[in-house]
Amino acid sequence: MARSSGVRGHRIGSGPAGESERGGDLVARVLVTFWCASGHSTPTRFAAEAVVPEEWECHRCGMPAGQDQENPPAATRVAPYKTHLAYVRERRSDADAEILLAQALAKLRGTAS
Ligand SMILES: [Zn+2]
Repeated sequence: MARSSGVRGHRIGSGPAGESERGGDLVARVLVTFWCASGHSTPTRFAAEAVVPEEWECHRCGMPAGQDQENPPAATRVAPYKTHLAYVRERRSDADAEILLAQALAKLRGTAS
């Protein structure tokens, strides 16, 4: 049995001190603030060499946000969600609905008998 293994002052992989700290944290970063149509600000950090996008998603409301506070992008992407039924109701009048319902009922009765 090897008694003293593991109590040796020999750390595997210990290079010059501080070597690993130079890579990640010292990358230059820029802070870009995006503004949505509701006036929310979304400060976002990018690496200095990264391409900063024109628009970013607002962290508060999810609407598109731009870098120009005075002129934020229009919230076109977040049109109010409509159900399928809402779309159907837009296309069809109540009279149409009555006819469709009558037809559906007739069909139901026809197949049920
Ligand atoms: Zn917002």
